Amino acid sequence: MAATHQHYIDGEWTDGEGSETFVSQNPATGETLGEFRRGTPEDVARAVEAADAAYEEWRELSRIDRAEYLWDVYHELKTNVDEYGEIVTRECGKEISEGRADVVEAAHMVEWAAGDARHPSGDIVPSEIPAKDAYMRRKPRGVVGCITPWNFPIAIPYWHMAVALVEGNTVVFKPAEQTPKCANVIAELFAEAGLPDGVFNMVQGYGDAGNAIVQSDAVETVLFTGSAEVGHEIADSVGGVSGKRAACEMGGKNAVVVTEEADMDIAVHSAVMSSFKTTGQRCVSSERLIVHTDVYDEFKERFVDVASKVAVGDPLQEDTFMGPLIEAEHREKVTEYNDLAREEGVNVLVDRADLDADEIPDGHEDGHWVGPFVYEADPDADLRCTHEEVFGPHVALLEYDGDIERAVDIQNDTPYGLAGAIVSEDYRQINYYRDHAELGLAYGNLPCIGAEVQLPFGGVKRSGNGYPSAREIIEAVTDRTAWTLNNSKDIQ
Ligand code: NAD
Repeated sequence: MAATHQHYIDGEWTDGEGSETFVSQNPATGETLGEFRRGTPEDVARAVEAADAAYEEWRELSRIDRAEYLWDVYHELKTNVDEYGEIVTRECGKEISEGRADVVEAAHMVEWAAGDARHPSGDIVPSEIPAKDAYMRRKPRGVVGCITPWNFPIAIPYWHMAVALVEGNTVVFKPAEQTPKCANVIAELFAEAGLPDGVFNMVQGYGDAGNAIVQSDAVETVLFTGSAEVGHEIADSVGGVSGKRAACEMGGKNAVVVTEEADMDIAVHSAVMSSFKTTGQRCVSSERLIVHTDVYDEFKERFVDVASKVAVGDPLQEDTFMGPLIEAEHREKVTEYNDLAREEGVNVLVDRADLDADEIPDGHEDGHWVGPFVYEADPDADLRCTHEEVFGPHVALLEYDGDIERAVDIQNDTPYGLAGAIVSEDYRQINYYRDHAELGLAYGNLPCIGAEVQLPFGGVKRSGNGYPSAREIIEAVTDRTAWTLNNSKDIQ
């Protein structure tokens, strides 16, 4: 096997303190992609120390000079979409157009952050006293810890880091243990861009390394994207420390609402894309379809038809719609939820959870395959399967009667508030949904997927706090100072 991949600390590739390693595997084939050092709390401490030491000089550069390094990263991402996209697909299993899209989204984030360096920062504010200048100025916070999930292994780390770096913070990055190879691409790009030593540091590994970042006194802000379980733990832990800040993005139990005024082509397209893209493993993936009784039968027939045929297979093939799940443990979890749904008495409409042997491509027998699992359930029933995030192609059809208020009540019947979509040709229904659906991300006549970095990205309720993504991240990675100056000789 090739040499074990290292951490990147203080401008150097290093083995770190620990002796343990872990491997990355292609979830479609089981092939080993590389062996990686497993980071320890001591490695995190060294990375934090390096980031802390680099901070004073880094913050003294102008925003524009700091952004210069990111423009180099942007050009590399932009010109190597195919190469990096393939690395994403091989390591996290999403089909190749999504692998490339991950890289494109990363490039957009870096472009936005670097471009923003030339935009005004802070505010000039009127004062009650004529000779007094009043400003809101932003300052970096110091060392920022970034803990990321595997499902957008290139895009999400840049969502965390691009703005944080331009604003003058230094970074300690702990990527997901499932996608260390994608993380290496990120570290290599920063190294090639010549970022000063210690400004960016990466420690590979598991939750214990992530936790060491969270617990470090020298980390001023923790940015986290991942499961609700871990995110709430981090928010609770950091929330108790005065002055320290955590911004956490978590999961959801997202829904598409299809009203009696929906265009059925748009409705079916929206539902299929929302439920099955990335094999249901997007934070915005939809596991509930709330459909009006007047159009229910037609929608059901058409959705079931697509779910029965949708192409599951080799994610490197252009015509594949769904790749595998990320790992065996996750496949077990999805299967358990499918079984639970049956136990909870739902009416199963499509069960391709265990693919037939002839559906699995040659050489891919060790992949973590699962197909769509679709069922009908009572929207008023207190079922775990319709209220908990499964993170797979596990989809409930919930039929409703009545007006848009009823559909929105069902939509809101979850502790989460990440993403949702409505399909309707009636602007009153759309406006009601826009104003009353408890969501951070809402889509009208679109699939419930997609992000644009110039828009906020993040959830409400138990789905998130503090927006560690896209442009809103600036609040998490800067402090505001209200700065007032007496411009006259008068004593004020
Ligand atoms: P996860 O919570 O298991 O892991 C995320 C990261 O946290 C990993 O790097 C992991 O090593 C680290 N970690 C685990 N335990 C930790 C601890 N105790 N302290 C600190 N760090 C720890 O999530 P995952 O399985 O990688 O990702 C899937 C989840 O992420 C889903 O719930 C999905 O909805 C969510 N997600 C949310 C968004 C969003 O923007 N809202 C985007 C993508 C994924």
